[in-house]
Amino acid sequence: AFDVLVVGGGPAGAASAIYAARKGIRTGVVAERFGGQVLDTMAIENFISVPHTEGPAFATALETHVKDYPVEIINLQRAQKLSRHGDLFEVELESGATLKSRSVILSTGARWRQMGVPGEELYRNNGVAYCPHCDGPLFKGKSVAVIGGGNSGVEAAIDLAGIVKHVTLIEFDSKLRADDVLQRKLRSLANVDVILSAKTMEVLGDGSKVTGLVYEDRLKGDKHTLALDGVFVQIGLLPNTEWLKGTIALSVRGEIEVDHHGQTSMPGVFAAGDCTTVPYKQIVIAVGEGAKASLAAFDYLIRTSAP
Ligand code: FAD
Repeated sequence: AFDVLVVGGGPAGAASAIYAARKGIRTGVVAERFGGQVLDTMAIENFISVPHTEGPAFATALETHVKDYPVEIINLQRAQKLSRHGDLFEVELESGATLKSRSVILSTGARWRQMGVPGEELYRNNGVAYCPHCDGPLFKGKSVAVIGGGNSGVEAAIDLAGIVKHVTLIEFDSKLRADDVLQRKLRSLANVDVILSAKTMEVLGDGSKVTGLVYEDRLKGDKHTLALDGVFVQIGLLPNTEWLKGTIALSVRGEIEVDHHGQTSMPGVFAAGDCTTVPYKQIVIAVGEGAKASLAAFDYLIRTSAP
């Protein structure tokens, strides 16, 4: 059995694994796709002390760093069940195998909900963006749209309005769902337009980058084209925690509830990164939370195990 089994091989999981292995305890990482979301990222310019890198290079660096230690990496395997048997946890994989460990760190991350319209996938990272904190500065002086009028969409529009030339916020419903205070702030900004009852139909581009989008007016049924340099999709971040429902406490949004030590509702099971209730989904935060969860797991082990 492992002392610490990390489920998820993104920035949070890599940090957890390194911190555990440095304690000299048996450490394993099981990941569906080692690297996680950074594999789908182009420029990363907000990982402190690294002014610029690219997602795939960052993912390789994560793996190289983990492999400096005796960590067993079980890649391309998806966990489907977590259970406790006496002092041991069991993580069942879709392949049918079962891994045993004295503590578990869940770091399965999250995925952005996509619009599912033509052009979205094609221009991902070339104008189609999901993270205003990450990609906002790339659109300085340009025109962008934000899709989604919930809190995250309206926050993104307010944030971007301070950086870009113009923001068009597009909401499917006939009203915004964001908190009133955010809506008031949004409407006070001179370079923001809001379009309600609008269904995004297609992201347009010139073959290499975004040039606009087409939306349908849901009341009149006619189509409109907006000229744009970027489209920020803000229609939800889905934590990869469906497999944990009923096993550990999740928030209404499906995020794993953790305390200040990264402890979940099941003693001995910790969690870190985008899959948790910790706000602001960023690499630097995931890495810090991963380190923290790992130190908490070590604390748990020295308190609970036989010498
Ligand atoms: P993830 O990176 O999501 O990793 C989760 C891991 O868990 C993966 O290995 C996955 O395969 C695995 N996994 C999931 N389910 C299971 C399962 N059931 N069994 C086994 N393994 C499983 N952040 C920044 O700070 N700066 C940026 O510039 C930036 N740009 C971004 C651009 C894009 C396009 C995207 C999508 C995100 C960006 N982010 C950026 C956000 C950043 O990537 C995330 O905050 C960060 O990767 C979260 O790390 P994590 O380890 O919590 O989760």
